Amino acid sequence: MYDNNNIFAKILRKEISCEIIYEDENFLFFKDIDPKAKIHVLGIPKVECVDFSEFVSKHEDSLVSQFFKRAEYVINILGLNNGGYKIITNSGLNGGQEVPHFHIHILGGEKLNFKL
Ligand code: AMP
Repeated sequence: MYDNNNIFAKILRKEISCEIIYEDENFLFFKDIDPKAKIHVLGIPKVECVDFSEFVSKHEDSLVSQFFKRAEYVINILGLNNGGYKIITNSGLNGGQEVPHFHIHILGGEKLNFKL
């Protein structure tokens, strides 16, 4: 069940500030407060969804596809296409998810030394 008090819900309600990279009516991309790479941006949809599965299964195909189109746009804004990047999403306890609002991590700007 979605927790309205999670930190990204507060960011979406503008109760907590963030450094915005891109925002539109459906999505927000902002800098991670504790970056694990030179560039570390989080991307979230504005609809309530706990994780990847909930986002994809409970929402319109068009919203899901738009999200990934916007992520690619942000990757371009950040200039990550030349050097490369990682996209990661964590889900649940086993995935090590800390904030229960679906998000992707976009990481780059340097050689990333952690491998899966
Ligand atoms: P995850 O472990 O996938 O749930 O990732 C949560 C991410 O949110 C972590 O990388 C945190 O550094 C980041 N984070 C937590 N609070 C904030 C905040 N107020 N603004 C930006 N990023 C945050």
